Amino acid sequence: MKDWYVIRPDSAKALEDPGVRINYPRYLEILRGKKLPYFQLAKRFEVDYEKEQSLRDLLILHRSYVKEFFEKIQNEEEKISKERTKEKNLLTLKETIAWKVLESCEFCERKCRVNRKRGDVGFCRAGEDMEVSSAFIHLGEEPEITPSFTIFTLGCNLECIHCQNWSIAQWFERGDLMSPQTIARLIDESWEYGVRNVNLVGGEPTVWTHYWISVLKYVRTPIPVFWNSNGIYSELTSEILKGIVDIIKIDFKYGNDKCAMRISKAPPNYVGIIRRNLKRAKSYSEILIRVLVLPGHLDCCLRNILEYIRKDLGEYVRVNVMFHYRPEYKVMESEFTELKRRLSKDDVERVYEIVRESGLKNVIF
Ligand code: SF4
Repeated sequence: MKDWYVIRPDSAKALEDPGVRINYPRYLEILRGKKLPYFQLAKRFEVDYEKEQSLRDLLILHRSYVKEFFEKIQNEEEKISKERTKEKNLLTLKETIAWKVLESCEFCERKCRVNRKRGDVGFCRAGEDMEVSSAFIHLGEEPEITPSFTIFTLGCNLECIHCQNWSIAQWFERGDLMSPQTIARLIDESWEYGVRNVNLVGGEPTVWTHYWISVLKYVRTPIPVFWNSNGIYSELTSEILKGIVDIIKIDFKYGNDKCAMRISKAPPNYVGIIRRNLKRAKSYSEILIRVLVLPGHLDCCLRNILEYIRKDLGEYVRVNVMFHYRPEYKVMESEFTELKRRLSKDDVERVYEIVRESGLKNVIF
């Protein structure tokens, strides 16, 4: 057993937890070496396309190949796992599509439609080549996810007034430009070192969808992919993620559109977008939901969020309710007086009560 399980003994035991086993059967099989992560299977799935084809035509092809891919996994997964990587495969098709999307970007629901290949930038201010802030083995994630090789990148498609990662999400820091090959090598090394997954964070991974696919193309090891997102990616990105990510984590931040728009400059219909993406994510990957409890938002947000989760996704979905909120970034100069403090003891007790009333059976704190 690696040294880090001494620091996190709960992680050592987590894979036997019934709540983990219900939610992550495929992830557990990958960790036991019984299955390959989706992106490695996608590399073994041969497809036919030309790079010069229009985005529209490639998307039509992609839709039917993805359908075929999942049917094949259903019936002949072991056989595909043993095949060699194909020159033109489902992952390279996704890569071609994603780099074309960059010319009129709609990776997320902001749909800025700017040409990022030409140097234009949209809301997230991300360009063409991904800027990395840090990459390290994270021991502070959920027990089943830890240890996790976590890569923080610059740029985000939300602007939360209380952002806890503001220095990278809002570009106050400079990042390092790293080639897909270099990042892939670091990922492979981390797997050899015994991590459980590669954790694509941000800012927000969605803004670098094209680059992440290029990175995965060079990864050789069977490391599960953990997509660590705020969940406002577009339907198009949802399609692209199908068949390359193993666990999708979404931060469900607000229980109504008004709070989402005021506090995080979220697009209108925030709640609808998150509910749609969670339902779809559950149909093609395993999921985790995080909820950061905000002071003063227990009824308008937390209660509604938990209710949506139970209604849309069932009572056994894995939810992490987090208490670590602290007033960060621009909160102290803002109009949001309720956010200028940490949670009180009374708040925490009410959170436990709201969770109990929600009927959700797999909530961790
Ligand atoms: S990722 Fe989203 S915010 Fe960034 S340019 Fe594309 S559509 Fe705009």
